[in-house]
Amino acid sequence: MKTIGLLGGMSWESTVSYYRLINEGIKAKLGGLHSGKIILNSVDFAQIEQLQHAGDWQATAVILSQAAQSVQAGGADMLLICTNTMHKVAEEIELAINIPLLHIADATADRLLADGIDCVGLLGTRFTMEQAFYRERLQARGIKVLVPDEAGRTLVHNIIYQELCLGQVKAASRCAYVDIVAKLAAAGAQGVILGCTEIGLLLTQADTQVPLYDTTAIHAAAAVERALDGLLS
Ligand code: GLU
Repeated sequence: MKTIGLLGGMSWESTVSYYRLINEGIKAKLGGLHSGKIILNSVDFAQIEQLQHAGDWQATAVILSQAAQSVQAGGADMLLICTNTMHKVAEEIELAINIPLLHIADATADRLLADGIDCVGLLGTRFTMEQAFYRERLQARGIKVLVPDEAGRTLVHNIIYQELCLGQVKAASRCAYVDIVAKLAAAGAQGVILGCTEIGLLLTQADTQVPLYDTTAIHAAAAVERALDGLLS
């Protein structure tokens, strides 16, 4: 089994989900007492969040590249950045290491295309919804991306930073997200990407009939598949 490297702590609330999903995935495939081989470097999110909102992405790239190198030095065979937003600096991180980076948007695009979806809604931080780095990666695969209007984006962004990353899961916020998902579907989205690794803590498929694509679950499943590649055939 290959060793999965995780760059986590952004926020740790969602890194917990990665850890659980990877171990559950390995157990489902191998059974018994099997569990994932994992190297985790979990950063202090307060520092990253400050730099994000100050627009100092270069400084985040330096911090995360060093963290990625320590994951590689610890023996990881691959790296996952456990946040959609910080894929903004994925190229810089990739240049700092020799092991493959499993890009969260690529894994998500694979899943969308397998389901025949070519127009999708995207929920995430303001950075993920508004900037090019994430949407263009999907568009390059032929997938049209819709995002909420300005008021919707503000609401989705604020709930992520002011509630979900602090471990707060509120029914009113779930209702607000369900409404936004419905609006995206009405605008033509065949499914909606939960493009922030904490959103799955708030919203699940049971809350809506619109197909949801939870990037945390998709990313973790891609890592499990890669870790067991060639082992089960
Ligand atoms: N975990 C979130 C994401 O997937 C947001 C936290 C962050 O800014 O990294 O984008």
